[in-house]
Amino acid sequence: INNIIQFSEKLLENKTSKLQGERVCILTPNDNRFISCLHAAWLCGAIAVPLSPKHQSTELEYVVKNSRAKVVISTPEFFTVVEKMQKNIDFDHVKVDDLNENPMNSNDTSETFPFLPIEHDNKPSLILYTSGTTGSPKGVLFNHSNLKVQTQSLIKSWEISPSDVLLHVLPLHHIHGLVNGLLTPLSIGAKVVMDPSFHARKVWSHLLDENSTSKSRVNVFMAVPTIYTKLIQYFDKHNMCPEDTRRKCKDIRLMVSGSAALPLPVLEKWKEITGHMLLERYGMTEFGMGITNSYRGIRVPGSVGLPFPHVQAKIAASDEHGNPHYSRYYTYAMFQCYWDNVKATEETFVDGWFKTGDTGVFENGAFRIVGRTSVDIIKSGGYKLSALDIERDLLEHSDITEVSVIGVPDDVWGQKVTAIIALKETSRLNKTELLEWCRSRMASYKVPREFMFVKKIPRNAMGKVNKKNLLKNLVSN
Ligand code: ATP
Ligand code: MG
Repeated sequence: INNIIQFSEKLLENKTSKLQGERVCILTPNDNRFISCLHAAWLCGAIAVPLSPKHQSTELEYVVKNSRAKVVISTPEFFTVVEKMQKNIDFDHVKVDDLNENPMNSNDTSETFPFLPIEHDNKPSLILYTSGTTGSPKGVLFNHSNLKVQTQSLIKSWEISPSDVLLHVLPLHHIHGLVNGLLTPLSIGAKVVMDPSFHARKVWSHLLDENSTSKSRVNVFMAVPTIYTKLIQYFDKHNMCPEDTRRKCKDIRLMVSGSAALPLPVLEKWKEITGHMLLERYGMTEFGMGITNSYRGIRVPGSVGLPFPHVQAKIAASDEHGNPHYSRYYTYAMFQCYWDNVKATEETFVDGWFKTGDTGVFENGAFRIVGRTSVDIIKSGGYKLSALDIERDLLEHSDITEVSVIGVPDDVWGQKVTAIIALKETSRLNKTELLEWCRSRMASYKVPREFMFVKKIPRNAMGKVNKKNLLKNLVSN
């Protein structure tokens, strides 16, 4: 820890007193250097703002500008990108150019390194930008206590312990990868194996413990549905043997899915090839994790379970716009405010409850997320349909690899259920056959009025589909 303090002092020389409450953006690969930069920022009393190495310069500039960052810390991979940004935006560029200066050298393969505890403290600590699925990403401001509550809650509910080894493959500029995947295990002294970029082959080799240089066996894995889908595709493509993978995955104790709805066929196939029923949970940047299936008890496929101990959740029957089931949350993990956006902050709280903007139902003793109220609830011919439910049905077709269902404005139907579909490369399925298949197994009002075949569905860094953009492109074409 002393080394990190020295590093942070050196890194942000003479700037320490000036950085209290200022924003410090961090742009590094997903490795140890990120952690030391995060601590350096926190030791200076600054608000850390992680940037995504995958983002293009316009997206990076948006965050640097919006957060009004005083400093951007970067590693050599990103010097040019940051210098380019400096032509348009005024900030100090702190370069982590001498690896030896860093107590957590990225080439250091030892699996233990110090981690500063997160304290209960009302000082602002972090701004995370939302995924930007429904509009421009919003800066979400946390204090240290918010992060402490979030990490402790996950440790308790999912029984994270110092003997765990978590395989980390998620972006660090997002709540899932940063709080769940990194701060939570590190704050209890568990180990984290970081893979700077996602390769299905490498992930499989960790999960199957084929990495001979690894000293500790990975036993916890957290990912988004698209990652599980890619791992399944790799499994199929390489004719891997399910008996073998199931046997080798026995020592893993927890595999979590979240950030987007987990399609049932993915859950089922994953169970078949690894023996693991994924633990699906629901959360948002604004309050961290809200609802989770049980670690030890029953996990209900298609549902997200019950609130974490620190969370109160309720379904608000209707809101001022007449939308049916909003989920509202009350939790100590709750963010402080949207950065520089008083109006958005005020609008999202009603009587002290946070309005999620998602539609949910409580059935069979568990919460189920029906979708985003703004795009996933399709009103067609007098019915209110869940786009997620229709997507789940379509994914049952073995030729379909990806699907996104949207409601396209229509004079007759109000909104027309439209399915954008990516097929397996080898598939010869045509629209007439697909329509027949849908009619044979789906209620008639749910059957898409239109199908569109595409090679790939565009997704953001978290594997999410911006349906508003999809619709805009569709309508303008
Ligand atoms: P933006 O707020 O910028 O539009 P975003 O809402 O995608 O982006 P995040 O905070 O990353 O940003 O994601 C939270 C959202 O992800 C939730 O509101 C919900 O719609 C979705 N989500 C998370 N977990 C699940 C889940 N298990 N099932 C269904 N949806 C989920
Ligand atoms: Mg959101």
